[in-house]
Amino acid sequence: MFYIGCHLSCAKGYLPMVKEAEKIGATAFQFFTRNPRGGNAKALDDADLEAFLRKKEELGIGPLVAHAPYTLNGCSADASVREFAWRTMKEDLERLERIRMIAETNRIPAAEIFYNFHPGSHVKQGTEVGIQLISDMLNGVLNPEMKTVVLLETMAGKGSEVGGRFEELRAIMDRVAYSDKVGVCLDTCHVWDGGYDIVNDLDGVLSEFDRIIGLERLKAIHLNDSLNVRGAKKDRHAKIGEGQIGLEAVVRVINHPALMHLPFCLETPNELDGYAKEITLLRSKRR
Ligand code: FE
Ligand code: FE
Ligand code: ZN
Repeated sequence: MFYIGCHLSCAKGYLPMVKEAEKIGATAFQFFTRNPRGGNAKALDDADLEAFLRKKEELGIGPLVAHAPYTLNGCSADASVREFAWRTMKEDLERLERIRMIAETNRIPAAEIFYNFHPGSHVKQGTEVGIQLISDMLNGVLNPEMKTVVLLETMAGKGSEVGGRFEELRAIMDRVAYSDKVGVCLDTCHVWDGGYDIVNDLDGVLSEFDRIIGLERLKAIHLNDSLNVRGAKKDRHAKIGEGQIGLEAVVRVINHPALMHLPFCLETPNELDGYAKEITLLRSKRR
């Protein structure tokens, strides 16, 4: 199975979201749990979730990948920003557990559920303090009963972002008590901007990932081209084949034996029709 899709919105409900996935031929998708800039989440509707889960199952859609708001920064120097991050993550995880419960109650096989977030920016406090604050947050919100796995996203290393190096993600995971609840999502634009040469040495980058983090911790891929050269630390996504990574390298990513079972989510600058075209293109290149 090739799990390929893009960013979709659940603002109009979960069933409409999965219908949108069907329309563009997606077998995976990622959605914001709330407005990506923060704010309150819409109340969940059990009937909508049940219909959503049935449709998702019927379409053979892979793991559910939720994305935390961009404003979530668990390693901010500002205590009120950290408090917002804790509260948002805790609430989002509860909502995702509820989706799983509804699947269980209705005997619908619930796929794996992931909650992806940007580790955060330490803003002059230093990477070490950042790593500590992020692991403090995870220790504060994770519990042994939950089945959702939280994913640390690999970052471009822009400004004071934590997570631009695999070592930093490893250090966070090492300090988390329930570390089986933590995985990683690899963003192709971000690792490229962070300096990892996925164009000329994908195998080398993946073996470095395996040595430092462990490939078994890798749960999802964000599939993006990058506007900038390797190591630019800019984080500007480009359409597939229109950036510095290029179509051939992206095709090697989707067909790599260590990656091909994972859900691939496009976060390219596109509207729905553009995503549909990229999905069709990548499907034609899948071996
Ligand atoms: Fe992201
Ligand atoms: Fe991403
Ligand atoms: Zn990005």
